[in-house]
Amino acid sequence: MLKNRRFYLNPFFEEFSLNAILFTDLRNIRFLCGFTGSEGALLITPGHAWFLCDSRYTAQAAEEVQGAEVRECGAVRIETIAALAAEQSLDRIGFEAAHTTVSSYRRLSEKLNSIELIELGPRLDEIRIRKDSAETNLLSAVATLSSLSLTAILSAIKPGVREVEVALALELEMRRRGADGKAFDFIVASGERGAMPHGVASNKIIQSGELVTIDFGALKDGYHSDETVTVACGKPELRAEEIHSIVRAAHDLAISAVRPGISCKDLDEIARGYIREKGYEEYFGHGLGHGIGLEVHEMPTLSPRSTSLLDEGMVITIEPGIYIPGFGGVRIEDTVIVTGDGCDVLTSADKRLLVL
Ligand code: ZN
Ligand code: ZN
Repeated sequence: MLKNRRFYLNPFFEEFSLNAILFTDLRNIRFLCGFTGSEGALLITPGHAWFLCDSRYTAQAAEEVQGAEVRECGAVRIETIAALAAEQSLDRIGFEAAHTTVSSYRRLSEKLNSIELIELGPRLDEIRIRKDSAETNLLSAVATLSSLSLTAILSAIKPGVREVEVALALELEMRRRGADGKAFDFIVASGERGAMPHGVASNKIIQSGELVTIDFGALKDGYHSDETVTVACGKPELRAEEIHSIVRAAHDLAISAVRPGISCKDLDEIARGYIREKGYEEYFGHGLGHGIGLEVHEMPTLSPRSTSLLDEGMVITIEPGIYIPGFGGVRIEDTVIVTGDGCDVLTSADKRLLVL
């Protein structure tokens, strides 16, 4: 199965006249051969693949790795790569420039001095941009687990409770339901803190009448979920209700426009244009969303500067927001999969303004 994913590498072999590509990014390695450990390298030629790891991972690799020959290497992996390159007469190897440090690049070019190393930019990560059915099943499962966890702990969100307590209750619930962990540090931003789009849960005590933005996600089998709700703890101010209804309408409009062929820039504009019409554009500073999968933020990016088009199988978030300094903020986020003629929404927590 995983061998099919190598199909996406063909354009790189051709365009850059490579005889191999070296992967060291663990997300790309997992995607291409199934290895889930924390260190390894994958060298792929058009006809063969080798997974290189040290003795700590030989047994695990033998169990997990598909479609690649496992080779144990000593402490200095680069020497094994050099030996393999010599054995296979490789002279042009592409590498993940976006995931290689300057010092490891220097070591690599020293050891592989007779080989041309070709930088493959962030475009290489686009091999993961369309999810296959195995991936969409995992993304759908982790999204469901995460949404149900939030719904189960809603009663823990109340005046007098600290933001971190909400985050902890949610993480505990996710773990109880089988998550491997949280996808990222949850944002729980109440009252004026809601004006910070990335206000991670603090010791602030939630007060009656405040809006609380909760941006959360679970991690399971390597895949992430990402969802945001904004709820009210007790009756909110009229302005808070108004902002919530604008953000929700912008979110709904964008979701109903998701389909193959629409540009990410146009989709961003659908939500942004609506918020502009309502007079709040200056308070929506970030892009509309992002791809999600083995990373929380991956390709494509949905923003006014985006150049990608949506295609069937892409999994993206839609997350407009309005953040007003000194007042607070609202964000509403769902994760959706692009289908043949629209999209399916994977996350399912209630997006209405719940008054708790
Ligand atoms: Zn989020
Ligand atoms: Zn997000």
